[in-house]
Amino acid sequence: MSARYLIRLDDIAPHMDWPQFERLSRVFDTFDIRPLLGVIPDNRDPQLLTFPELSGDFWDKVRSLQARGREIAQHGFQHVYVTHDCGLMGVNGLSEFAGLPFDEQLDKLAGGQQLLREHGLSCETFMAPSHSFDRLTLRALRELGFTTVTDGFAPWPSIEHGLIFLSQWLANPRVLPLGVQTFCLHVNVMTEGQIHRVEQFVADHHREFLTFAEARSLATPQTLNRVAGQVIGSTMRGLKTVRRNLRRRRNSA
Ligand SMILES: [Zn+2]
Repeated sequence: MSARYLIRLDDIAPHMDWPQFERLSRVFDTFDIRPLLGVIPDNRDPQLLTFPELSGDFWDKVRSLQARGREIAQHGFQHVYVTHDCGLMGVNGLSEFAGLPFDEQLDKLAGGQQLLREHGLSCETFMAPSHSFDRLTLRALRELGFTTVTDGFAPWPSIEHGLIFLSQWLANPRVLPLGVQTFCLHVNVMTEGQIHRVEQFVADHHREFLTFAEARSLATPQTLNRVAGQVIGSTMRGLKTVRRNLRRRRNSA
């Protein structure tokens, strides 16, 4: 089987770039792609709050998107970074959860889950702000009944720590030789070129997309997949370090 693709949209909140969101929605609707929407239960992120607020009821909007086949993920709690822990993924040194005691993490996650439930939304997938979570986050997610984490480096969907991991390490869509990859789109900061690239990719490859339920059904605990994920993970972290060092050197030059 050749590669299959998924799309997730991060940072869905009342304050965001709604015109850009609607533009992308049109191409997803045209080709019946069902992206995962990472909804922030109680957005307090000062940067995100600078975007204009949706005119109309945000929760009505999310419920109607869910009714149209979009799956909803819980994207953290308030999207406010409180530690510099890069967690198990090891990519970004900012976290809302990693490094905090278990009870604190559980309270935040339960608080977010409760808010979403009060608005008629139930989620089984967790999307960590800044891709940062640790073993205690995963334990709290299991206790709260989550099944899936949209993160990871394994080529195919995997089962680890008692949860399904759907691989996510690319932002810009591109053709891959194998596996199931989630492209992570930050609608609020996408350039015209990036949006155009998504539109083109979806038009060309829409038959190769899966729903999140389909991707979940492919998850296995296979060792080979996990080992391949570790190799990809350390390569990605290595590339990130090289890029960071180059940037530092350029800035100090
Ligand atoms: Zn985010």
